[in-house]
Amino acid sequence: MKRKLVSIVTPVFNEEAGVGKFLDSQLLPELLKLNYRTELIIVNDGSQDKTLTIINKCKLQKKIKTKIITFSKNFGKEIALSAGLKFAKGDAVIMIDADGQHPVSVIEKMLKKWEKGAQIVTAVRKHNTTKHRLGSKLYYAMMKMLGNKNIVVGAMDFRLLDRSVVDEFNKFTERNRLARGLIDWLGFKQEYIVVETNGRLSGKPSYNFGMLMSLAGDSLVSSTRTPLLIFGWIGIFITVVSLIMGLFILIQQYIMGDPLHLDWSGAVAMSVFVSFLVGLVLISQSMTALYISQIHAESKGRPLYIIDKKKSKGIGRAF
Ligand code: UDP
Ligand code: MG
Repeated sequence: MKRKLVSIVTPVFNEEAGVGKFLDSQLLPELLKLNYRTELIIVNDGSQDKTLTIINKCKLQKKIKTKIITFSKNFGKEIALSAGLKFAKGDAVIMIDADGQHPVSVIEKMLKKWEKGAQIVTAVRKHNTTKHRLGSKLYYAMMKMLGNKNIVVGAMDFRLLDRSVVDEFNKFTERNRLARGLIDWLGFKQEYIVVETNGRLSGKPSYNFGMLMSLAGDSLVSSTRTPLLIFGWIGIFITVVSLIMGLFILIQQYIMGDPLHLDWSGAVAMSVFVSFLVGLVLISQSMTALYISQIHAESKGRPLYIIDKKKSKGIGRAF
C-alpha cells in the first residue's frame, strides 16, 4: 500500500531574511524523518522582497515535492492559508508559519495524534511571547464574555487537518475569514498540543496592532450577535425605568396634586420623557441590527450541517 501523503502549507510574505533557513534547516530535516510521503505548498502572498528567489534556490525543493503559488499582490495570511488548503492533496494537511515561530518538532506529534483518530490537531501557545500579549488577552476575554465559550486561549494557526476537514473547509465561500475560526466552527474531533513558541527567525511580524484589532473586530462580528443584543437590552431597561418614572411623576404630581411635596420641575418630567424616547430608539436600532445580522448570516451561505462519516449497511446500494 502507498504511504499516506502529508501536505505542509506555508504562507510567506516578505520573509527573505528567514525563509531559507526555515525551509532548509528546520522543515527539511523534519520532513525527511517522517515515514510519510510529503508535499510542500508555499503560498507566496505577494512578497515584494527576494523571498521568491530564495525559495527557488533552497535545496528542500530537490528532495520534496513543492508547489509554489504566488499571488498577484498581498491578500493576507488568512486568504493565503485558504489557497494553500485548496491546493493541498494530502490525507492530512499541516499549516505552519514560515517565520520559525512554530516549532517543526511538533509536526511528528501532530501526526501521531492524527493516526490515533484526531481530525484536527491544534497547537496551543504555552507562553504568549508576542508583543500583543495584552491585546490578545483582552480579545479572548471579550470573546468569552460575548458567548464564544469554547474558544481556546492561545490556539494557533499551527494545525493539522484531516482530509475530511480540509474538504469541508474548502466549501466555505465567505470572503471575510479567519481560518482558525472557521475550522473551529466545523466541529470534528479536535485535540490540542501545548507548545513553546520560538522567537521569529528574523524580520518583523507583518501584522501591526491596528491590523490585529481589525482582525479581532471581523471575527467578533462574524461569530457573535451579542453586542447587538446588549444595546437592545439597554434600550429596554431605559424605556421601562423611564416609563415607571414618568407614570410616577404624572400621577403623583399632576393627578394627585403632589401629596409627597416633591415639587419636581417640568425639566425633570421632560428629561424622563427624553430618556424614554432614547430607550425606544435603542430598541429599534437593535432590532434593525438583528435583521441585518440575519441577512449577513444568510449571505455567507454556510452549509447547514457538516457530515463526518457516511456508512450504509445491508443489501442495496451505498449512497
Ligand atoms: N503572512 C502572509 N501574509 C501576510 C502576513 C503574513 O502570508 O499578509 C505570513 C508570514 O510570512 C508568516 C505567517 O503568515 O509565515 C505569520 O505572519 P506573522 O509572523 O507576521 O504573524 P504572527 O506570527 O504575528 O501571527
Ligand atoms: Mg510570526
